[in-house]
Amino acid sequence: MAKVKPFISTGILRLFNRKKLPVIAGHKLLYSCNLKCKMCPFWRRKDEKLLTLEEERMMLRKLSELGVIFMGFEGGEPLLRKDLPEILKESHERFHTSLVTNGLLLKARFNEIKKYLDYLFVSLDGIGETHDEIRGVKGSFNKTLEGIKIAKEEVSLAISTTLTRENLDEAEKIVNLAEELDVLVNFQVAYDYSTADKMSPEKEKLRKVLERLLYLKKEGKPIMNTKEYFEAILNSWYKGVPWTCKPWLTINIDPQGRIVLPCYVLNEYTGSKRIWEIDIKSLWESYDWKKYESCNKCALSCYLEPSIFTWSNFSIVKERIIDGMISIISTSLGF
Ligand code: SF4
Ligand code: SF4
Repeated sequence: MAKVKPFISTGILRLFNRKKLPVIAGHKLLYSCNLKCKMCPFWRRKDEKLLTLEEERMMLRKLSELGVIFMGFEGGEPLLRKDLPEILKESHERFHTSLVTNGLLLKARFNEIKKYLDYLFVSLDGIGETHDEIRGVKGSFNKTLEGIKIAKEEVSLAISTTLTRENLDEAEKIVNLAEELDVLVNFQVAYDYSTADKMSPEKEKLRKVLERLLYLKKEGKPIMNTKEYFEAILNSWYKGVPWTCKPWLTINIDPQGRIVLPCYVLNEYTGSKRIWEIDIKSLWESYDWKKYESCNKCALSCYLEPSIFTWSNFSIVKERIIDGMISIISTSLGF
């Protein structure tokens, strides 16, 4: 169970504050990766000069002043950055800190980072060859599994699975694997980025899998997504009843320190102004968020889960707060 830091409850109050301010931050430390996942546009990009440790600190200070509570680091593959322990340490002093990794380097580097993590997400997209095929590197499933087994002993950990047209049949097997390993699994649905392979699942097959996952969730299987997450997608994509998207709750920062607006998906992760150069509060207040409320194009849990949070729904409050499962909204930004 993830530990809940004392400032978390204050941050949660912001989820229903009338003022639009981000509560969650996601930061891509780099685009480079040691895998080549079919649905991913990021490893295909060249990294420009990355932020220095001092610039990372400037970014974290700015986010802290803004009142951000949850900080999620991702990539590319964050463990490729040598200064990752120092960056995580800075973050851990200020925020509930999580990391998304593909797990290949966990065996080599977990000891350096473990004390600075509140939550670790490890991406896994199938069992054995299915995972290797989607992720583009033979043998990666075994290495990732080995990393999960090492890390789960010392940090709260969830498998992060992106549902694609190639692994829908294995969703339940991944739930079973999570149960066997005694970790959680968080699902996302692949989005068709213009610069990656089109891997989003076939619509009718996806509906059946989402219904099944919702059923398994209700049965108490170790699925991190709330049941409302699955219900929101089923209602919107199959019955025309949209959820209200609140992308302003999550701020994303690219490897150059630039803010990605309005969300991760719509501009395909291209930032504009560097975070320490602008007045974010004014930007957030003046930005036209309204037009994105009914977008419903993606099912990234880092946007969808906080968007559907409501104090009037007891099961969400219980799961997120009473059960200390607050980390569910902390990231899994991406894959
Ligand atoms: S999805 Fe993640 S692990 Fe796969 S290539 Fe992209 S950044 Fe790397
Ligand atoms: S639903 Fe639309 S506005 Fe909301 S995060 Fe997804 S792409 Fe962005």
